[in-house]
Amino acid sequence: MPQQPLAQVPDDATWFWQEQGACRSVDPTWFFHPQNERGLPRLRRDRQAKAVCASCSVRLECADYAIRAREPYGVWGGLTEEDRERIYRRLDSRHYPRDRGEGLRAAGADVDRAISPGALGITA
Ligand code: SF4
Repeated sequence: MPQQPLAQVPDDATWFWQEQGACRSVDPTWFFHPQNERGLPRLRRDRQAKAVCASCSVRLECADYAIRAREPYGVWGGLTEEDRERIYRRLDSRHYPRDRGEGLRAAGADVDRAISPGALGITA
């Protein structure tokens, strides 16, 4: 699991799922963009990370955590920073999802869309 400073760790956060993350066996830099990375290099790195997440058995736990913690950096559960920003913008800050499972419910279809063939750059 990539290690970065956390924004707002939920009170009920658990970490057992991180032990099972598919990202533990790949280069952690795939999940975090270097400074000033833009365009195609960023798209390619994000897709590489998303492909790992797509095969990960704890992807939903990871995505739920990242949304609840309002993780500012990295790919979590197949969601890039931009994917999560879109979700954050839809949410009511007065009732921000903080309890386990609320992140996934708030994200709706975004979590599945984040690792769809189109998002991974796979064309039929
Ligand atoms: S969903 Fe992605 S970032 Fe999260 S634990 Fe799995 S591989 Fe790592």
